[in-house]
Amino acid sequence: MNHIHIGPMELYGCKEALARLEPFIDGELPRDERRRVSFHLVICRNCAPLFRFESRLDGTVRQSLNESEVGAPPELHAKVQRALQQARLADQSPPTE
Ligand SMILES: [Zn+2]
Repeated sequence: MNHIHIGPMELYGCKEALARLEPFIDGELPRDERRRVSFHLVICRNCAPLFRFESRLDGTVRQSLNESEVGAPPELHAKVQRALQQARLADQSPPTE
């Protein structure tokens, strides 16, 4: 049996996942939380575009981290902030299905 054991307590909602998106991108999250954020981003239809956005950034961040240890450049944070704002706005609007 190859059961993946993920209970409700282990799942992040959109707000919880998005609240951790910045440290997630910066690589500051503990592995466990990082795993939960990744899992949410993969399974959540709303956050899937953010995940693609994030994974692009993640490579950039890793590159910059390899070059120096200062972390993500400011413009990267600006992009993240904008994505978070859009996500929050989308979160507030009623479902259109
Ligand atoms: Zn979500």
